Amino acid sequence: MRIALSEIAEGRSYRYDATFGDEDVSGLLDLTLAEPLAVTVSHTTVEGVTYLRITTKGKVYARCDLCSEECIADASCAIDEELTIDSDCYDADDDCYDIDKLIDEAVVMSAPRVVRCKPDCKGLCPVCGKNLNVEHCDCEQKKPKIGENNPFAALQDIFPTGGANNGSTKM
Ligand SMILES: [Zn+2]
Ligand SMILES: [Zn+2]
Repeated sequence: MRIALSEIAEGRSYRYDATFGDEDVSGLLDLTLAEPLAVTVSHTTVEGVTYLRITTKGKVYARCDLCSEECIADASCAIDEELTIDSDCYDADDDCYDIDKLIDEAVVMSAPRVVRCKPDCKGLCPVCGKNLNVEHCDCEQKKPKIGENNPFAALQDIFPTGGANNGSTKM
């Protein structure tokens, strides 16, 4: 996409909406879209500086960080750039900004950083590897418990998977 400087008026806001499908994001997002990625480009120019904002919003198929089950995660990002004729994307021959690379960058940054199949995913048992959302195991019971008089006993409840069992306060 190109923004021709001769076609933009100072102080006016411009907005463009596009919908990206799997073919548009291939090579950028290493995930399959669960719904099209909505991409919005808006910009306003004040005193020769073009304030550009690119936002994306969609859903992708991803794997839960905790239990590895496939789930649908939010994909989104917002990037802001201040463009001038000194910017890399300024094309002096056509007197325009070529923002394709910035749009690509926004698509890349849309990948979810944290993926949870559900807010309270229990994850996999670190001992036997069972998915604790669907089955139970007794590995947790077999671990040595901290005595009730131990001041760190309370921490075991607060940080059930933390390192409090050996008496360390490292969290
Ligand atoms: Zn999960
Ligand atoms: Zn287990």
